[in-house]
Amino acid sequence: MTQKSRKGTEHNGCCSFCGADPSEVALMFNSGTGANICSNCIEHGYELITEHGIAKKAKKRGGNTKFQPLTKEDLMRPDRIKSFLDEYVIGQHTAKRYMSVAVYNHYKRLLAKGKTNDVELDKSNIVLVGPTGTGKTLMARTIARLLHVPFSIVDATALTQAGYVGEDVESILSRLLQAADYDVEAAERGIIFIDEIDKIARKGDNPSITRDVSGEGVQQALLKILEGTVVNVPPQGGRKHPDQQYIQVNTSNILFICGGAFDGIEKKIAMRLNTNAIGYGNSATKRIDERNIMQHIQPQDLRSFGLIPELIGRLPVLTYMEPLEKEALRSILTEPKNSIIRQYETLMALDNIKLTFDDEVLDYIVDKAIEFKLGARGLRSICEAMMMDIMFDMPVTEGEEFRITLEYAKSKIDRAA
Ligand code: ADP
Repeated sequence: MTQKSRKGTEHNGCCSFCGADPSEVALMFNSGTGANICSNCIEHGYELITEHGIAKKAKKRGGNTKFQPLTKEDLMRPDRIKSFLDEYVIGQHTAKRYMSVAVYNHYKRLLAKGKTNDVELDKSNIVLVGPTGTGKTLMARTIARLLHVPFSIVDATALTQAGYVGEDVESILSRLLQAADYDVEAAERGIIFIDEIDKIARKGDNPSITRDVSGEGVQQALLKILEGTVVNVPPQGGRKHPDQQYIQVNTSNILFICGGAFDGIEKKIAMRLNTNAIGYGNSATKRIDERNIMQHIQPQDLRSFGLIPELIGRLPVLTYMEPLEKEALRSILTEPKNSIIRQYETLMALDNIKLTFDDEVLDYIVDKAIEFKLGARGLRSICEAMMMDIMFDMPVTEGEEFRITLEYAKSKIDRAA
């Protein structure tokens, strides 16, 4: 590196890196020991660090202390996994049982690598079918929290087949890498939740009529990743481009949990069961009504819905989430470790305000959530509407107690609705 400026004079306040004169740049920094650096060089260096630094960091496999490798001691038995889920997720007992077993088997398989005498243990990727706001994402997130593995959520609707507007399928791994602080080894045993998997269903029975770039095309692209392959992942996500750096990620031990509402799948199940969703008709239908039809879901129903058989084959664990009834919604408000009501109480307690809710307020919130048909998601937005003014005025009322009465709740919620 030369200490001469571009003009050939000895270093005299010019940038020690590019030789720029202070008058040519926005800022010149002096080290105090005779070296200078201009703002252009800092900017250039920053770009290099962010683009290439990530790739360099990623090569340090297992360098992250946040996600330690799993050990046999970390592996909880399915009943303990379910108990942990019970602390955060209300109801959904069938789904919890399926998830607990699938997760247990997945990580057991991972720990047993090379010790199973030629018996290849398959992956146990999971599909959760159920209406919005019933806890699909919460369930996946809770599992990741239990296992201390990196976790990311991706939306299948954002993905398109390579070469079309949208995100490449590989970008789902970029999110996981980011969640793992670019520790590839940690990412390689992480969990990815693919939301809205039903939205990439095949659009029609005949795929050749129109180009189905966000449907079947994406399903095809997902196959290898779900099964297990080495993928070149663009560190920052988005579209791949030729002069980009890639990080290689092996997906064989990544657990994929897919969730979707699959609106209308009850009809497909009913048709298969040779009945109808309402439940009138032959004797078989007497036992099957609209409310419990989801428990009969089978992989072939996903196929009738428009998922391709190859994809279904790579998602061997299929279970369903029940719609949340009044009682469950009421419990969700108050029971989980980080329930919505507890969160508000804690928020206010941080400002020395004791917040209390009358029982009838909680019932009212639940009734409104049912009316809005948003599952447990509705609870949060209703509470927000109710709490808005109190939270705004909070600093003024510090040290006080605030009791939320039905009258108060109604005045705020009905105004917002
Ligand atoms: P989904 O993925 O099924 O659309 P989410 O898991 O995102 O639903 O749920 C949205 C929010 O509703 C969660 O953050 C959680 O607060 C609450 N919630 C939903 N279902 C449950 C449940 N079964 N138990 C506890 N909380 C729930």
